[in-house]
Amino acid sequence: MRVCNDRRASRRRAEPTIAAMSNDLRDGLRDDLRAALAGVRAFVLDADGVLLYRGEPIPGSTVALQTLRARAIPYRVVTNFSLTHRTTLAAQFSKATGLPAEPELIITAASAAAEYTRRHHPGGRLLVLASPDAAREWAGQHLVSPEDADAGSTPVDAVVIGDAGEALSFANLDVAFRQLRGGAAFIAMHRNPWWVTPKGPTLDSGALVMGLEAALGRRAVICGKPSPVVFREAVAELRADVARAGGARLLTSDVAMVGDDPRADVAAARRVGLRGFLVLTGKVDRAAAGASGVRADGVAETLAEIVAGLPPR
Ligand SMILES: [Mg+2]
Repeated sequence: MRVCNDRRASRRRAEPTIAAMSNDLRDGLRDDLRAALAGVRAFVLDADGVLLYRGEPIPGSTVALQTLRARAIPYRVVTNFSLTHRTTLAAQFSKATGLPAEPELIITAASAAAEYTRRHHPGGRLLVLASPDAAREWAGQHLVSPEDADAGSTPVDAVVIGDAGEALSFANLDVAFRQLRGGAAFIAMHRNPWWVTPKGPTLDSGALVMGLEAALGRRAVICGKPSPVVFREAVAELRADVARAGGARLLTSDVAMVGDDPRADVAAARRVGLRGFLVLTGKVDRAAAGASGVRADGVAETLAEIVAGLPPR
């Protein structure tokens, strides 16, 4: 623990702002990136804006993943996309990249919420508002339909609000509200108020989560990014990978998160103790990254540049 703290303290002293690192990028000075990557033993990778953009692989990202595999550096892909089960998402990813589908390497806001209820409400009655495909993440857990929750006299133990599409109806949210008022644990996949679909800006389930929070006067436990829950889950899985391979205990500070969102990826991961690296292949360009005011351990043009900056073994 002491080693971990010391290492983080030394990083903090030296850490430049994203704006300063963006200038370094422009000038081709990459020693800072190599130094920031020293000691990194595992990765948490965002999907959209790091591996894929608008459904297409970002140049170099497939080779970067292959390099991590070849070097036996474990990783998890963490995404707030939660409309489908990980097997569906992995199949889509495999089709786009040509890499094998490995659902066990993906953590979605839905799978993180399912893992959360498995750990914190074992055997509990759960009211989960999710798409039918995403609800498969709760296989083996005790799900109760909104109709049964409302009709029964036994309260549910936890309510999970996710991306349920049409199932996020007034009737179902009203059932959820009554169960939550009755004392059920309040869990949500994320708090995103809207997102962009082919229809344009589209209402997201986070807006309804915030509505319930306002009605109840209490906050939900968020399981997707930027919540610590999903990052801790990823680190726990990576730690298990390293232990299985016979490696020394993986510290949280040995894990690098690579994302395209300065706040929801980089700042959120750093709050949990991971290193946070920003790439410029998604949400922000160099100017927006600098203007965000967020501190990062490193900034790179692409994931490929980060993987290329790893020290040789
Ligand atoms: Mg992203």
